[in-house]
Amino acid sequence: MKKSMKIYVIIIAVLTLVASCKDPREKTVWDYIGDDQTVSMERFEDGIEEMHKDLIKHGYMKNHDCREMECAKYHTTTNGDIERINSLMADNSNTNKNHSSYSTVKEPFIQEKKFVKEFPEHGFSIETPCPLKDVSNQSDGDFLVNYAGTTDENDDKKIAFYQVMVTRLPVGYNNLSASEREKMIDRLLEEATYKSESAKPIRFSYDNYKGYEMTSHHNGYKQKGVIFSKENLFICLTVISNDKLDEKFNKFTNGFKTIKTIKSDNNTKETEKSSGITNSLVYGYKINAPCKLLKDQDYRYDYAYKGVVETANPDNAVVYMALIVDLPMKFSEMIESDKAQIKSNLMEYLKSKGKYEKATLNTTNIFAYNVSFREDGINYKECMILTEKLVFELIVAAKQNIDNKSFEDFYKSLSK
Ligand SMILES: [Zn+2]
Repeated sequence: MKKSMKIYVIIIAVLTLVASCKDPREKTVWDYIGDDQTVSMERFEDGIEEMHKDLIKHGYMKNHDCREMECAKYHTTTNGDIERINSLMADNSNTNKNHSSYSTVKEPFIQEKKFVKEFPEHGFSIETPCPLKDVSNQSDGDFLVNYAGTTDENDDKKIAFYQVMVTRLPVGYNNLSASEREKMIDRLLEEATYKSESAKPIRFSYDNYKGYEMTSHHNGYKQKGVIFSKENLFICLTVISNDKLDEKFNKFTNGFKTIKTIKSDNNTKETEKSSGITNSLVYGYKINAPCKLLKDQDYRYDYAYKGVVETANPDNAVVYMALIVDLPMKFSEMIESDKAQIKSNLMEYLKSKGKYEKATLNTTNIFAYNVSFREDGINYKECMILTEKLVFELIVAAKQNIDNKSFEDFYKSLSK
């Protein structure tokens, strides 16, 4: 899997919370994913799972494991999903049905699926009938990208294998003149066709990338591919199948789209750290974060402020949150049992997350604790603060490790 998991999980969570006031049956998976033009398979799966969790929580859908039930694969509509799961789960609990009858129930829901995999660092996306997985560690060669997927895996006649590979011009190309570079690209493209049985020069996609279309055989299967040059890259799209190969190949290559190239630059971290923004919270509180915190609807809190430090590589995005509960009255004026109850609830929460330790703050508080934990592949650092009137949860979340300095800068900047 490596880098393909996305920080989007957090962003989904944030978006989910934004949308959570609506009846979940009126929502679609896009309420959970956001309305980007293209989404990755992981993001889509996570969106389905979030949606189902919401439906389960509100009692519209029976409890189940989305991965086990392959919810993303069989997704139709929100109501379609509810019907499918509820009928499957009812079947499962009433009779001890075996797996084969279970699969006859889900058959009607099968439809042609489309998955879009984006490669923003290389400026393209591709639509496939199956999710693509990183297979670069399964093969030799100096690939920037080596992704593959299979359809009809259990049907030897229909099985199809899809592959996307990207390689780069050799490092020395920078020193070449434009015409020398062109010649070098031509030569490398031609070399790439040597192993094929037939090859014809083509212009690929609306952008007229220079390349070759090739056919050959591979372990008794027919193979059709295209290789073309885009800037300093060579992109190779291949389909292997003995079933409607031309049709599959055309669909696959038509699913190629040039998108904006996002350069991964290492300066992002510097700007992140230097550009502290002072954000106003409720009751005159202020907090510094490297991004703007926007007020957000979150039914679990009285006030929620959230912001994302976007980076070129979405894997490096960092989410900052200030989640606030407004106590019904001043803590010091509460009866002792209420005070004890609130404190014990907060401690229970901390304990459930992991090892916690006292935190030192620059703002008056009754108590404050830090806790670090990892959930669903995301790292969290949280400072929980009890004050006279508010309970704060100041959270930094990221796919990668969160350095203590960033976290400290955040929670210690809370002031009034
Ligand atoms: Zn599900």
